[in-house]
Amino acid sequence: SATYDVVVIGGGAGGLATAASLLKRRPTLSIAIVEPSDTHYYQPGWTMVGGGIFAPSKTHRPQVSLIPAGATWIKAAATAFDTAVNCVRLSNGDSVGYRAMVVSPGLKLDWDAIPGLKESLGRNGVTSNYGYDTAPYTWELVQAMRSGRALFTQPPMPIKCAGAPQKAMYLSADHWRRQDRLQDIEIEFHNAGPVLFGVAAYVPALMEYVKAYGVDLKFGSRLVGVDGQAKQARFVVTDADGTTREEVREYDFLHACPPQTALDVVRDSALANEAGWIDVDDTTLRHKRIENVFGLGDGTSTSNAKTAAAARKQAPVVAENLLALLDGKDMVAAYDGYGSCPLTVERGKIVLAEFGYGGKLLPSFPKWVLDGQKPTRLAWLLKSEALPEIYWQGMLKGREWLAAPQSLSNTDKAA
Ligand code: FAD
Repeated sequence: SATYDVVVIGGGAGGLATAASLLKRRPTLSIAIVEPSDTHYYQPGWTMVGGGIFAPSKTHRPQVSLIPAGATWIKAAATAFDTAVNCVRLSNGDSVGYRAMVVSPGLKLDWDAIPGLKESLGRNGVTSNYGYDTAPYTWELVQAMRSGRALFTQPPMPIKCAGAPQKAMYLSADHWRRQDRLQDIEIEFHNAGPVLFGVAAYVPALMEYVKAYGVDLKFGSRLVGVDGQAKQARFVVTDADGTTREEVREYDFLHACPPQTALDVVRDSALANEAGWIDVDDTTLRHKRIENVFGLGDGTSTSNAKTAAAARKQAPVVAENLLALLDGKDMVAAYDGYGSCPLTVERGKIVLAEFGYGGKLLPSFPKWVLDGQKPTRLAWLLKSEALPEIYWQGMLKGREWLAAPQSLSNTDKAA
């Protein structure tokens, strides 16, 4: 088995961006990227596919075209982490060694946790923007729907792109409104959690749309089963006093967001915290116990919004800190928890939530240019035109537009 300076686990948003950032800083590094998939997906585009705005082809590229020049692609999955001997075991029977490791394998969409959901997906009016194969079906169903009941569900946190379940709802409702069908369609949002959005500053703007579309908000309502034949969804509802009851809702249209957990390969390793996530320091993104391991992206223990926008800011922080480690120096760069969620409240307008740890608002633009707490056309243009380019041409190539890392001051340096 070969040994590299750096082994990167996952060729998704976080893995590719970090590999590119590392090579930009130090072209002589030997880097291997462990990634089993031939195709890389731009998942933020799936909301737009489900809304009939992007063609599915806009949301994927061949993995081989994205591996940064100078990095080696190992087309396999990591199956076990032998961190005591700096080695990763691979699905092809091989193994690979490293001086430092970057772990960004994403998270697990746990479709199987809801009996009947996987069997119903893509037919019987059941869809999800959380899959490349099913996002186009959302738009098919939305166009075909004339009347009846539409359910949108959101599982317990944490999930990637926490706004995506309601984005699907707003874009669907907007279409029905434009087609003059809204009065014949009953919309319910079943959210396992207690609030519409985790950062209160954005809720008033969203509530305007909830009202305009006539959405019935159901908090503490968790999807637990789907009967595709009977077109029935089962929910466990937790009332304000903590008592639970089961409720069955008939539907004509169901957009489900799957429950999300840590990947098994991470959970079953020394990398995991109690909940199974990669246990990294919030600020340096270095593993809390294993000093030559860093983590970023959806799979980590950090409390930021699990978004590609977060990975875009995390990648240069990991790159700088990892190089400092290889050079025998202290950690140098700090991540502030930035994440972003462009809430597509209607076709042509977005409420652009941008925030860091503790829900601190971290807008990229001054308010007079773009007020994230209001629906704006500019934020829509950002999402539909600029962000895909920033992703493909900037982030994945190690060009750190809007993502220059902050330095870690001596006072808050991690132990
Ligand atoms: P991923 O990009 O998922 O990549 C993980 C990679 O690891 C994959 O390529 C996978 O094949 C690979 N892998 C898995 N297991 C292994 C293994 N054992 N060994 C090696 N490799 C492995 N973000 C935004 O910023 N804005 C948005 O508007 C937005 N909208 C979204 C809408 C939807 C519907 C969805 C699903 C996501 C959205 N996101 C959005 C979230 C964004 O896509 C993720 O946060 C981002 O992709 C996380 O990057 P990652 O590297 O952690 O994981």
